[in-house]
Amino acid sequence: MLNYWKAIFQKKCPRCRKGDIFKYRGYQLSHYLNMYDRCSYCGQNFMPEPGFYIGAIYIAYALNVALVISSFTALMILTPKRPELWIILTTTITPVVLLFPFVTRLARSMMLHFFGGIQFDDELTTQKENQEEINK
Ligand SMILES: [Zn+2]
Repeated sequence: MLNYWKAIFQKKCPRCRKGDIFKYRGYQLSHYLNMYDRCSYCGQNFMPEPGFYIGAIYIAYALNVALVISSFTALMILTPKRPELWIILTTTITPVVLLFPFVTRLARSMMLHFFGGIQFDDELTTQKENQEEINK
């Protein structure tokens, strides 16, 4: 059983923490944002209301700002003298571009876990596991 933050980072269902939220892996760029309508394990609806994931844009923005600030800080600590502007821009923007699919998916997962109004149901998971063991 996954803990709360592990479920967010592994993009698992907030209710059972077993079923995947996304259909494909993050590096499959043509459909990295395709989500399941419902959880494959517990049937939880992943679309609480129309336009729900618009709020994930703000979370992704905050994550990208944190990424820019941390890469800028790392650059300033690691270089002995003040680097040129193009080096600063390249160093701060490159991680944002490269990690774009990961950050966008993470923001959607955080949106669903934080604001989806879905509570983790431990009993549901253990009941289903017991049922599967009986069926074996
Ligand atoms: Zn589920």
